[in-house]
Amino acid sequence: MGNVLVIAEHKNGVVKKVSRAAFAFAKEYVAKQGGEFHILVMGSDLGVVADECMGYGAAKVHVADHADLANYLCESYAPVMVQVAKDMGAEVVAGTASAMTKDLLPRVAARLEAGMASDVCSINDEGHFERPVWAGNAMVFVEIKTPIKVAAVRGTEFEPTEKGDASGEKVAVNVSVDLGALKKRFIEFEVTKSDRPELTEASVIVSGGRGTKGEEGFGMVNQLADLMGAAVGATRAVVDAGWAPNDLQVGQTGKVVAPDLYFAVALSGAIQHLAGMKGSKTIVAINKDEEAPIFQVADYGLVADMFKAMPELIEEIKKVKAG
Ligand SMILES: Cc1cc2nc3c(=O)[nH]c(=O)nc-3n(C[C@H](O)[C@H](O)[C@H](O)COP(=O)(O)OP(=O)(O)OC[C@H]3O[C@@H](n4cnc5c(N)ncnc54)[C@H](O)[C@@H]3O)c2cc1C
Repeated sequence: MGNVLVIAEHKNGVVKKVSRAAFAFAKEYVAKQGGEFHILVMGSDLGVVADECMGYGAAKVHVADHADLANYLCESYAPVMVQVAKDMGAEVVAGTASAMTKDLLPRVAARLEAGMASDVCSINDEGHFERPVWAGNAMVFVEIKTPIKVAAVRGTEFEPTEKGDASGEKVAVNVSVDLGALKKRFIEFEVTKSDRPELTEASVIVSGGRGTKGEEGFGMVNQLADLMGAAVGATRAVVDAGWAPNDLQVGQTGKVVAPDLYFAVALSGAIQHLAGMKGSKTIVAINKDEEAPIFQVADYGLVADMFKAMPELIEEIKKVKAG
């Protein structure tokens, strides 16, 4: 029987949806294996977000609130997480697989001499973790034999925990960071300003592929997304061509998403792209090649030239919206 510690990632004073999926993972683990679920929240001026963390059913919320933690650095965050994990007797240390935890959790695992599993999709009754291999073509259960285990949880595979009444105990973490002694220093965070939802948080995504043939065609993907209040995604081919920024890449080496609705426009459905979106609830594909692999996973498919179909679709949606 062991406790589970989960890091809560937050933005603008709100816990990210993907972290709420990691809370669900922790709750399932302790339901099967016993122990307590704890949350760790790190940063500066954490009052509001620490209060929010109290609403997810954790036995304890550890609050590491320090001016020197205002900006994420692996070197400053990892020792804090390791200390809390040791103090609370963690058997599992977890977070949602994200840009931050992909950097943080391996270091935490090394310092705890813990085995680690990434992209964890489920837990079996023995407490083994299921994860994809070969770009998601096969799933394996891994047994981690070290006393402490580290898990990066796939945010799309666990239903995010909903906030309830505050419960548990809030514990202030005694943080001592010497930023001057670190080998890395924070310089600047360049925020991409966008009115669109974040890819990993969006319920609707419109993604475009190489068949958009350039910025003009990809503009229709943007237009459809804006009409639907959706996030924009792209294949690696599009990102490599410079038609979209690389933070929009969906797939094995991009982001893993599972929105309610995924529009796949003029993309073939290569295995590495499918690895990032095939968990979407409903997939709609537009492709001029009826043999394109995307149609094998699509719920609705339209065999058509996107340069004809997209303007028509956009016009129809405009009409519906105008009432
Ligand atoms: C290690 C590795 C990791 C990778 N990681 C990723 C990843 O994370 N994400 C990712 O996306 N890819 C990834 N790739 C690349 C992947 O293998 C494919 O090359 C890429 O996904 C193809 O992008 P695409 O579908 O846009 O282009 P294509 O495969 O060229 O498909 C274009 C599609 O557009 C259709 N089309 C063309 N014109 C029109 C038209 N006018 N109207 C309608 N349809 C049209 C065509 O029929 C075709 O199906 C990775 C590859 C490797 C080796």
